[in-house]
Amino acid sequence: MRRLTFPAVLLAAALVLSAFPAIAQTPFSTTIQPEWLKQVLPAAETFSDKAGDPPVYSGFRSNPETGEQELVGYVFLTDDFKPERVGYAAPIDSMVGLSVEGEVTNIKVLDYTESYLYSRGDFIDNSVFLSQFRRKPLTDEFRLRRDIDGLSAATATSTAIIRSVSEGARRVARVYLGYEEGSEAERNNAANAMALLEQTSWDAMVADGTIVKMDALSAEGNPFVMNITYIGRPVLGEYFIGENAHTAAKADIDFRAGPSELMLIMPVGEGAGSVYRPYPMSARQGEVTRRVAGGRFANGGDASVGAIVGHAGYGVVVSLHPDIDVTQPFTLIYHTPGGREDASVDYALGGLGLTLARNEPVLSEEDILQAMLAEAGFFQRLQMAPPWGETVWLDVILLGALLSLVMAAFLSKRSAIRWSAMTVTLLYLGFYKQGFLSVSHITSLIKQGPMVFTSNLTTLMIVAFTVITTLIWGRIFCSSLCPFGALQDFLARFAPKRWKIRMPQAIHDRAIYIKYGILALILTLAITSPTVSVFQYFEPFGTIFFLSPSVLLWAILAAILVACVLVERFYCRYVCPLGAALGVISHLSPLRIRRVPQCTMCKVCEQSCPTGAIRREQIDFKECVRCDVCETKLIKKAGTCRHPMEEIARRRKDKPTHEAPDLIPVAAI
Ligand code: SF4
Ligand code: SF4
Ligand code: SF4
Repeated sequence: MRRLTFPAVLLAAALVLSAFPAIAQTPFSTTIQPEWLKQVLPAAETFSDKAGDPPVYSGFRSNPETGEQELVGYVFLTDDFKPERVGYAAPIDSMVGLSVEGEVTNIKVLDYTESYLYSRGDFIDNSVFLSQFRRKPLTDEFRLRRDIDGLSAATATSTAIIRSVSEGARRVARVYLGYEEGSEAERNNAANAMALLEQTSWDAMVADGTIVKMDALSAEGNPFVMNITYIGRPVLGEYFIGENAHTAAKADIDFRAGPSELMLIMPVGEGAGSVYRPYPMSARQGEVTRRVAGGRFANGGDASVGAIVGHAGYGVVVSLHPDIDVTQPFTLIYHTPGGREDASVDYALGGLGLTLARNEPVLSEEDILQAMLAEAGFFQRLQMAPPWGETVWLDVILLGALLSLVMAAFLSKRSAIRWSAMTVTLLYLGFYKQGFLSVSHITSLIKQGPMVFTSNLTTLMIVAFTVITTLIWGRIFCSSLCPFGALQDFLARFAPKRWKIRMPQAIHDRAIYIKYGILALILTLAITSPTVSVFQYFEPFGTIFFLSPSVLLWAILAAILVACVLVERFYCRYVCPLGAALGVISHLSPLRIRRVPQCTMCKVCEQSCPTGAIRREQIDFKECVRCDVCETKLIKKAGTCRHPMEEIARRRKDKPTHEAPDLIPVAAI
């Protein structure tokens, strides 16, 4: 009966927690509040019930002139659009507003479950990140790092939000607003082209022939230079003269001359003047020469937007006659007024312009990188595209220094160094970086595979350090690299000694297995119910270091801290699932703590061990957190180590039940 008690308690806890998902996951809620609808669609005064396919709340306002209710937009929940985009660990449920003009008006994150290292409590509620969705037209790109900056160190989360918002909004717009858009290939082509253009410079475009220069004279005989380039695709026009000027010029020319290939003239110099004017021009290709009629010119703007800024006073958009094939070389001729000699320049489209003119796919930087990676060797690939993305060298150096300090403390057995390491661990790794290991990393490994570790270099460093050192020496991580372990040691050090109680041995011997049960429960749920997350109720790391807003989690933490004041390393001894996992690994460790024959009778280390891992000369190594307490006593020959066995026996009045082994001289230890 007694044996059934513990599993039954765990099972009951799991059932209770999974029965209340709002409690079991985040401080957010999926129970829709009326004021949230207004937050994401501020123009609406009233809302319908959720209805339709896809399901939406319709938002209305009263027309100030007619008094009639008019539709201003829709609100939808990304949760209603299957399959949901999954973030780091699970879908991120959001509420999204969409105006009838086809703009995303605002979004609100309702619920999510993420892993600790990437989760900052309510970190998704980042106003800078979320504000990028306000009044964002659906015709915009919704691409991470192109026009939406992601959440720091949370690429999967950012991408999931962006995709669920944009895909849901476009679907609602297609069904309810008749929204149509170019093909995805066209949109990607334009985005890729813009990304490439933004990396180039005016001088580079002059050097590679994208921009050609023609020396010309005005009617008054003043010299000027025509900078000429091809803008036959919208992305090129937008890049050189901005979206507004390009759209207006193209609409003008389309109306007068029909769709055609466009060139842009960017005049500069004394003879150019400062206001738009058409120029007498022709285009020649082979034997064909076509005059550019007056209707084929349009104002290309005042050179206040785009790459043209600083290089010309205005832009002139020129529509080429259909007989001119822009993919082949041709000559532009300027008929100098006043009967002077004509000026001309040869133009041959190449590179990106030619690709666009031929309507061929434009490779993105990523496509180009992938092609290069496919041909590179392993180390080249690692250097060119490390799986963790950009290397934050400062973090890497600081973490490397901390790991060195931890090892220095362990190898030197100097208490001052260990307390220094624990101080840095607690303040830097715990409170500042929130970069500690958690049992959630094990569950994330089960759900998502090794990319959980490789996608972040500092995580990879801590994991590698922990696994390697545990395999060799035991739980060095628990000694001074775990912020919560360090916190417990600080509590034990500064709490009054009279508050401490000694756990009865019989209870201790049974209670140490609770943490293995908790670990088994968490791993079982990770395998069988990936969307249920209960680890935070057994692991208070996130509560204290991420400053969780959950009252329940703070209550659990308070209870654990009180227990840790009364019983040294209470949490490590009986509750910690990560410690349990490391304890299992430490079964393999070959380099353990040495004992001496005197230990068969001496209880100094047994009474000092913070985890109760020592019983006379025996050490339960899986429970040992390599705190060095017993080893320091041994090495320093303090306590009773230096005393002969007879003296120990006399002092303790506690003769060994077995024959005492030969004494080992301390000097030989
Ligand atoms: S047992 Fe858990 S809390 Fe204790 S030091 Fe190890 S990982 Fe940290
Ligand atoms: S003080 Fe020395 S003899 Fe006593 S338990 Fe520790 S190591 Fe063994
Ligand atoms: S006192 Fe010794 S056995 Fe106990 S936790 Fe520390 S190093 Fe391990």
